[in-house]
Order: sequence, then C-alpha cells, then structure tokens
Amino acid sequence: MKTAAKVIRNLENAGFEAYIVGGAVRDFLLGKVPHDMDVASNAYPEEVKKLFNRTVDIGIEHGTVLVLMEGEGIEVTTFRTESEYTDLRRPDKVEFVQSLEEDLKRRDFTINAMAMDKDLAIIDPFGGKSDLEKCLIRAVGEAGERFQEDALRMLRAVRFSGQLNFAIEEGTLAAIRSHASLIRSVAVERLKNELDKILLNPRTQHSMAYLKDSGLAKHLPAGGLLSMDWTGYEPKGQAAFGWAYLLHSQQKQFEEIKGYKFSNAERRLVERALEAANLTEWDDWTFYCFEAKELEIACYLNGTDMDIPLRKEQLPIKSKRELAVNGIDLMEWSGRKQGPWLRQWIEKMERHIVYGQLENDNGLIKDWFLNEYNGDS
Ligand code: ATP
Ligand code: MG
Repeated sequence: MKTAAKVIRNLENAGFEAYIVGGAVRDFLLGKVPHDMDVASNAYPEEVKKLFNRTVDIGIEHGTVLVLMEGEGIEVTTFRTESEYTDLRRPDKVEFVQSLEEDLKRRDFTINAMAMDKDLAIIDPFGGKSDLEKCLIRAVGEAGERFQEDALRMLRAVRFSGQLNFAIEEGTLAAIRSHASLIRSVAVERLKNELDKILLNPRTQHSMAYLKDSGLAKHLPAGGLLSMDWTGYEPKGQAAFGWAYLLHSQQKQFEEIKGYKFSNAERRLVERALEAANLTEWDDWTFYCFEAKELEIACYLNGTDMDIPLRKEQLPIKSKRELAVNGIDLMEWSGRKQGPWLRQWIEKMERHIVYGQLENDNGLIKDWFLNEYNGDS
C-alpha cells in the first residue's frame, strides 16, 4: 500500500490524477491484504514511463505499465474503456478516457468498481461499498448488456461468489440465466483461468452450485461433470487437486476435460495422480516412480495420509541418474548393441535396487547382471 501511495504521489506531483482501483480496494475494505496493486491514472503509458526509473511494458497497447519500486510491482493503467475480449485477459480494443468515473464504469461488478486515493478516501459511484456490506455481487450498469459485451463476466460472478462467500444479486443472476449460452463464445483459456480460481477458492462448492443453478455449466466443456456434488471437496492451493478430484470422484478419464487446453505439465500431473490413486497397493516402486506432488494428490483423492517425503528419502536410489551403472556398461558386459532389451534390463536392475534386493554398486551390479543375463539369454 505504501509503495502504491508513492507511485500515486509521483504521478500527482507531475500533474496527473491517480488512484488505487479494482480488487485491491475491495480487499482493503474487507480487511484483507490485497495480493496485487493496480493504479489507474489519466497519464498515458509513455508519460508513466518517463516518471519512473524502472518500468516494464506488460500491456502497453492496453495502457498498462508495470512500475517497479521498493521490490514491488505496481501496475499503472491509463483510464480507459474497452470492448471485446477474445484472448486470455486483455480486451481487443481500448480507448483511453479522461475521467476516473468512465474507467470505473467499464469494470464488471460494483465491488470491483471502486477507487481509493492516496489518503484512503474511497470513490464509489456505483454503490460498491454498500454491496460489500450486503455481501452481494452486482453488475455495474445493466447486467445483460455487460454480459453481452464480455460473457466471461458471468463466470467471474460465479468465481467471486466462492472467493468472497457472497451471493449473486438477483437481477445479475437473472441476467446470467438468460445469457448463459453466450459463455460459449469465450476463449477456453479465459474459462479455464476462472475455473482454476474456483477450484482454489475457499468455497468451491458455493461457486459450483451457482455454476449449475445459473445454467452456465451446461454451456461449458465438461459442464455435466462440473455439476457434480462438491460437498466433499476441500481446496488445496493448486487447481490440479480440483481437476483430479472432479475426474476421480466420477471415475472419468482426462480426455473429458482436455477441451480446457491444459499445459503438458498440468495434464501429466492430473493423469499421473489419477493413475497412482487407482493403484491397489503402494510399495517402494510406487514411491520411486511417481513424483511427490502426484502422490500428494493421489493421497488426497483416496483420503489417505502418508509421509511421502520420508518414503522417498528412504529409497536406496531416487532416480535413474543415481544408478551406479548405465546403458553403456550393460552393452559392454553383454557384448550386445542398443535395443529394447536395454531398457528392460535397466528397469529390472532399478527394481531390484529400489526393492533393496541389489546394492547400488558397480561391481555387485556387474556380478548380478552377468549371472542373470546369461541365465536369461
Ligand atoms: P483477484 O483478487 O482475484 O485478482 P481482482 O478484482 O483483482 O480479483 P482481476 O481479474 O485481477 O480481479 O481484475 C482486476 C480488475 O479489473 C477487477 O477488479 C475489475 O475491476 C476489472 N476487470 C477484470 N476483468 C474484467 C472484465 N472481464 N470485465 C470488466 N472488468 C474487469
Ligand atoms: Mg487481481
């Protein structure tokens, strides 16, 4: 907050207006520590850049410059209006405007459409403070129109309901019901971004109930799956827990949710967690083959409690890299060229070592190999 106040003071000293806006004001009024600070100003990006030593162009065409100060990053965005979002988070076209009020008017909900000056005075043209007190999510202006401009806002309403434990105001909810199908027009990356946040927020089931009841779910990829009962779900700080929970509790495959364009790493994490969760028994080989995070999610799914770091720590080797021999040794000892046999023998050797049946020592492994290999070939 102090750093943001300094940024504002600098802008004001140069003759501009500047305010803290959006989620930070909301969170401040709720007595929470805002996780990022957004400043809005009538200064143009080029002017902001001239005023501060260290800046990063993070969205200059949309009017946003990141100001680095005292180890913090403050996003300074020129007052603007906007239209059409087709990408992840930025509008396609923006128009810079001169007044704060016009900038606040383009924001989604009254609780997100307040500003605060450096002396903590609140500018609240749409009754955001009163809605905060009533724990209500209400669209700024005519809800239906706002959802036609950007249909993602409907899903954002659902997301904030769980994040804040708020209700969606009746008229806003009615507008979601009547415009629900528009959510189909939103880029899947933007949808996933909000769903990830729903899976992380403290009241996932609250959001999911709205998702279903508002009629939004049935227009979303895997909407049927999302409409399940989330009562038993407890968020765990990473969205992958939620996606895995969704599939595991309905015994579905990853294919069902692939429409959300997961990264390869996320996909692997979810799939491997499900694989581990579905194993009937876990032994040292399981702890060797699966990553700690995969096992952590699997434990969560199965409701089991295990000291995964300890079980991994106790393994004779933690990965292939620790093996005292390599493929070249095996080729030399057997006199054979590379081939599928090599992988099979390396795995056989790994298993013996992991299970403690063979010591990870080059000489001992050689004896074992020559013995077993001759017996085999
Ligand atoms: P969080 O604490 O989850 O980050 P936030 O309110 O900061 O919540 P952001 O998605 O970071 O939410 O957006 C910052 C602000 O930008 C919002 O508070 C809102 O004023 C505005 N905003 C963001 N997305 C939209 C949108 N699709 N339509 C209108 N206004 C939006
Ligand atoms: Mg934010």
